[in-house]
Amino acid sequence: MKIDEGRVVEEIRRVKPRLVLLSCPEGYLRQVEDLASRLEREFGVETMVSADLCYGVCDTADLEALKLGADLAFHIGHRSGFTRIGERTVMVDVFDDADFSKVIEKAVALLKPYRRLGLCTISQHLHSLDSAKGLLESAGFEVYVGKGHERLLDGQVMGCRFTTSFSIRGEVDALVFLGQSRFHAVGVALSSGKSTFMLDPYSETVEDMGVQAEQWGKRTVLQIYKAVDAKRFGVIVGLRDGQMLSAQAVHLKKRFQKHGREARLITLREVTEERLAPFRDLDAFIQTACPRISIDGSVFSRPVLSTPQAEALFGI
Ligand code: SF4
Repeated sequence: MKIDEGRVVEEIRRVKPRLVLLSCPEGYLRQVEDLASRLEREFGVETMVSADLCYGVCDTADLEALKLGADLAFHIGHRSGFTRIGERTVMVDVFDDADFSKVIEKAVALLKPYRRLGLCTISQHLHSLDSAKGLLESAGFEVYVGKGHERLLDGQVMGCRFTTSFSIRGEVDALVFLGQSRFHAVGVALSSGKSTFMLDPYSETVEDMGVQAEQWGKRTVLQIYKAVDAKRFGVIVGLRDGQMLSAQAVHLKKRFQKHGREARLITLREVTEERLAPFRDLDAFIQTACPRISIDGSVFSRPVLSTPQAEALFGI
């Protein structure tokens, strides 16, 4: 993994901050700690490293930086169409140097039945898209990469945004996801309705996501049906910067009330079984924070539906 340190240094030289806050996903913490101590030595700047969980581009530490009096916040590791977020957050890319050539070589035989392929990936592999496209084209495939949209760059998917793969579903016979995230690969399969293959450069394996997508799809529907008889709902507003959809939560609460159910608003940073346990009188929850929580998150004893699942529930 390589952090785009040039971007960090450029901003430090420009802003000349007294205090900077650095946040990143857990897996990068050691590298970020090392970067922080080098920044202190080389630029005489005070640094703080956020050890809080950091989930995505929705989860910057902009407000924390403001409260701490930091002049800059570096959000490291979630590349997107945004280069800055909020008043003081600078987005810093991390590049994974994984090599896709071997796994692409293995995938060619399996992908033969599909002539036209759509290619997508997550932020840390975006720089590998062009070379992967070239390799697949040399093997005789027609390869398409979906155009970036809003916060998504060309070919990029996020756990809550699959516009780039969805937009090319009519032009391709199958989709190829580069990386090692079943959650994202299944999301590509479910949102596009196309055969989807995950090419994992670390294990050098090619996985057809069909069976898993079907299982996840069924699980999603099952959760909705489990909430059908619920009388009292907790509607959760996420407190992470980009997940704070309070207007949407208030709207959902009113709709539940119109449908003759009780509904109450709850705010949470971490939506876990433990945090929901004290709300014993509630039968089910809707969380407006992040779709991943309902699909891939903790195991909940009561239904915890995402907003699209809640929409489906209203339709039953
Ligand atoms: S999937 Fe969830 S964590 Fe990832 S960007 Fe979307 S809201 Fe944030």
